[in-house]
Amino acid sequence: MIVILEPHIHKDSEEYSRVIERLKALPNITLRVHQEQGTQQTLTEIYLVGDTHSLNKEEIATFQGVNRVVKVSHEYRILGRHAIGDNRASYFEYNGVIFSQDNLHIFAGLCAVDTPEHVEMMMKALQTNGQVCTRMGAYKPRTNPYSFQGHGKHCLNYVFELAGKYGIKVIAMEITHENHLAEIRQALEKTGHPTGVMLQIGTRNTQNFELLKNVGRQSEFPVLLKRGFGITLEESLNAAEYLASEGNRRIVFGLRGMKTNLGDPHRNLVDFAHVPVVKRLTHMPVCVDPSHSVGTRAQSPDGLMEIQHAAAQGVIAGANMMLVDFHPYPQKALVDGPQALLLQELPWFLEDMQIAREAYEKRAALIAKKIEQTSN
Ligand code: PEP
Ligand code: MN
Repeated sequence: MIVILEPHIHKDSEEYSRVIERLKALPNITLRVHQEQGTQQTLTEIYLVGDTHSLNKEEIATFQGVNRVVKVSHEYRILGRHAIGDNRASYFEYNGVIFSQDNLHIFAGLCAVDTPEHVEMMMKALQTNGQVCTRMGAYKPRTNPYSFQGHGKHCLNYVFELAGKYGIKVIAMEITHENHLAEIRQALEKTGHPTGVMLQIGTRNTQNFELLKNVGRQSEFPVLLKRGFGITLEESLNAAEYLASEGNRRIVFGLRGMKTNLGDPHRNLVDFAHVPVVKRLTHMPVCVDPSHSVGTRAQSPDGLMEIQHAAAQGVIAGANMMLVDFHPYPQKALVDGPQALLLQELPWFLEDMQIAREAYEKRAALIAKKIEQTSN
């Protein structure tokens, strides 16, 4: 059960102490307090843990200072959407960028950092095209142990400095071990925090519970958790709940296609029909990764690349974030060159995604109008 306080109640107020005292007096219950920092206000949520069956929800809702009480189902206690009335915020802000179930950010960038020159070319193209987010892989989990594993901590300083130089506010960067967290933190310190990092947990680590717990315990960086490519959606959402249960709720959930064994034309089977499902089940903004889903620059007869078609499918279904691989010279890329788009394709790609986003917004406005008409 979640007790949501009136937004004006501060933790150091008398009203707050009074309501906490009353909740503490409930039998066989422990309290866990969470503050949700929004752009307009701070919401205090109090989780009642323990024997909640005997509690009277309606009575608790009458306590002074209580705004409403939400009964949570067993699943996704923190991240889930629960009973009617659970209209808790579905957004967070990081380094001046708002991540929400209502907007869209495109993270075009390098799959893997190779040279400072390529990083600079990428960042410059992003700035020219009005972008403030990117993806940059420093730690690469590779299927083959002899493949390039990423430059790791050795590239972080120049990646962060170049990001700052070109006005990039958030870099999605995969980590595969808790040590990488400290390396990123150190490099940001050393370079004077010119940019921000969204920690990415990749599909191979979705159920690396110790990594999830470590990342969940820190609140400095938000997290992009990718869906596991060979497990159920429910299992992946539970992995996200691991992060939240340790304290970090600034999570974006990423769809990136599923492994199938049917001789697919694509690297993975695109699963972007699950965008609205994740939004229905949880409060998390949803990311799609058309590059790792499709995996090739194959073109359909209409001239659009299949990566673009998949990307547009994600956006028209309401995706809030997108990772997409670009490279100035894909033939020279050390990882995933065959799926990289060219820098000169960036303005076209962004315009194409804008068309898909506008179509989504029109669809959402149409149904909102219909609902209003039927309720009048
Ligand atoms: C990536 O985004 O670089 C990546 C390796 O993705 P995934 O974990 O989805 O394979
Ligand atoms: Mn890749």
